[in-house]
Amino acid sequence: MYAPGDVRVIDAPDPQIEQPTDAVLRTVVACVCGSDLHPYHSMTPAPEGRAMGHEMIGVVEEVGAEVATVRPGDVVIVPFVWSCGVCDFCRAGLQTSCRIGGLAHAPHTGGAQATFRRAPLADGTLYRIDVDEHDDRMPGLLTLSDVYGTGWHAAVTGGVCPETTVTVIGDGAVGLLAVLSARRLGAERIILMGRHEARTDLGRRYGATDVVAERGEAGVDAVRSLTGGDGTHVVIDAVGHLPAFEQAMGVVRDGGRISRVGVPQYAEGPIGRDQFARNVTVTGGVAPVRAYIDELLPGILDGSVDAGAVFDTELPLDEAAEAYRRMDARESLKVLLRP
Ligand SMILES: [Zn+2]
Ligand SMILES: [Zn+2]
Repeated sequence: MYAPGDVRVIDAPDPQIEQPTDAVLRTVVACVCGSDLHPYHSMTPAPEGRAMGHEMIGVVEEVGAEVATVRPGDVVIVPFVWSCGVCDFCRAGLQTSCRIGGLAHAPHTGGAQATFRRAPLADGTLYRIDVDEHDDRMPGLLTLSDVYGTGWHAAVTGGVCPETTVTVIGDGAVGLLAVLSARRLGAERIILMGRHEARTDLGRRYGATDVVAERGEAGVDAVRSLTGGDGTHVVIDAVGHLPAFEQAMGVVRDGGRISRVGVPQYAEGPIGRDQFARNVTVTGGVAPVRAYIDELLPGILDGSVDAGAVFDTELPLDEAAEAYRRMDARESLKVLLRP
């Protein structure tokens, strides 16, 4: 990406092993993320361009001398954060805070929207799966590199259980998979706030019991009237813009939890006396998706969880610019890219 709206597919040098803990991957499937649309709107133009993409399944082509858990030919899920797998944060399941990988550590690895990519910290990061690269479950497996794990993180940190009512704000892939996750964690009442009908229909298939198309105050009123005036125990914000957070404050029940997984595009919000007086907890955050793969993979493999249905469009990698355009115009929910 070179500037807002300017996505090009170029011929870049092939990645090489740089550290003994690296692997080089060949992409099987990748995709465009809702968070890729933030720079698509607002990045500072960069003449050298910026490699894009952080969700992929790859085949290991080559490994560094110290890599022990994956070998050339292995098919691997690539979580969107690099992690060592052995530090205290990684062992606690918070790979996003890894002491040598994590979010703070962004070596030049190239993006996932590419034919080849270098993967640092291969042992801690890559998750080997016993499937063929041509397996038709690839779309579902790909959601484990980000969006399904992120939706799951939202529901888990929000404390969703059979006793909780839930509102999900946002009908993008993460919001819809948060609905699916809340259902899997036992919630029976799930209100989805979204206005794109094809998407909210998928939300209903995933377990939403009610859909509220209104936003702002009208949306808050609608959710409150569905819940006897109280709002829901858990509110998941899968959008990341301030109005969505304000909406979350409006529909959360006193004593409830707002779980944020949409990357916040704001630095200040309504966390003053109102939140204090109502005992509202704000939780969520960037999802350590690596920690959830063990738990979420079986449902994808046995076909009981159709997370891959969030991919409503597939394009060749060469048409990445069209993938961005379609997602930005909301013509596609999520675009899968194949080299
Ligand atoms: Zn993503
Ligand atoms: Zn670590």
